[in-house]
Amino acid sequence: MKLFSKLNTSDSKVFLGILVTISIFILLTNTLIILNLVEISAEEVNLINIAGRQRMLSQKMAKDVLLYVDGKIKFSKIEETISEFEKNLADIKIGNKHRNIPFLENDKIYAQHIIISSEWSNFKKNLLVLKEEPVNYPAFEYIVHNNEILLKKIDRLVDYYEEDAVHYGILKYQLMILVFGTIIILVTWFMVRRIIYKSGIDQLTKIFNRRRGAQHLRSLIQISLEKNKDLSLIIFDIDDFKRINDTYGHNVGDEVLKEIVEVVKYSIRDKDILVRWGGEEFLILTPDIDIETAVSVAERVREAIDAHQFAEAGHITCSFGVSQLKKDEEDENLAELIKRADDALYYAKRNSKNMVSSRK
Ligand code: GH3
Ligand code: MG
Ligand code: MG
Repeated sequence: MKLFSKLNTSDSKVFLGILVTISIFILLTNTLIILNLVEISAEEVNLINIAGRQRMLSQKMAKDVLLYVDGKIKFSKIEETISEFEKNLADIKIGNKHRNIPFLENDKIYAQHIIISSEWSNFKKNLLVLKEEPVNYPAFEYIVHNNEILLKKIDRLVDYYEEDAVHYGILKYQLMILVFGTIIILVTWFMVRRIIYKSGIDQLTKIFNRRRGAQHLRSLIQISLEKNKDLSLIIFDIDDFKRINDTYGHNVGDEVLKEIVEVVKYSIRDKDILVRWGGEEFLILTPDIDIETAVSVAERVREAIDAHQFAEAGHITCSFGVSQLKKDEEDENLAELIKRADDALYYAKRNSKNMVSSRK
């Protein structure tokens, strides 16, 4: 808390900037990992399907060989199946390459793929022998016998793919990290924002405190000088507030401060900034208006307070001092602007109080 209350506006901007950058980085990498896993998982399902088809094709080949040996079909029929089987083998090879990310790599699958490939090349050799010599008994026997073996090896490949499909589990885990990570980042973000915001707020009246008020005033001065815009300042102080505390007690004094803030808020524009400058002393920063207009704003506020019936303390008045930024003086600063408004306030206090005074 102490750390944040010491942060000024530019520090907090840098801090929030770093937080946002880190958050975006975490969310982005997590999203990329998930997208990658989704792609890999889809590939895994695809490979399981291809391997399943290979199984079917190898059975079909064994069956067709029997028909071919009996002279019931032509070898070209078997050749169609052979080319489909080989195309699938190539697809599996490509698929394996796609799912090849180091921490999930499964060497068993590669080994099994090599075993199937070499089994297949012997199988094909014998098929081609039968093409030339349909009555070659050893080749026929090889195919009938090894078809079963090839089938078992393909089955095992499917098993391996299914085992390897733990990606789905990782995907779920990754999604959980993303959801919880996002929640934690958002909560931290809102907490930090709140802490920074609260460090600039007066706890009693809930308006800007002196520190944040000075920051706003400094940046308004800078903007006005840069853009050659008007900027006026109203300072006001409750008349005879000590008497109110003495008569009704400190708690009623506090309530008066809160109530006055509500009354003033209604009498100023949204872009005017109300600041609790000290005990019972307030500032109204009025951008874009000259001193004459600011005097009429102060007069409106004065009248509103004068006309308000306070819950316990009844009738209360305030005195006002108004000043204007000197745009043509380069070294015009916050202290001088406030000093002129303060002098005007002093004048109002020394005269009748409950009045507005100004100093250019
Ligand atoms: P003046 O018309 O000349 O301004 O007279 P004043 O009585 O208002 O005189 P002064 O400004 O010197 O007194 C301000 C008083 O406001 C003194 C202090 O006890 C009281 N005060 C300051 N902060 C608070 C606060 O937060 N709550 C309450 N209840 N009183 C406060
Ligand atoms: Mg006072
Ligand atoms: Mg005072």
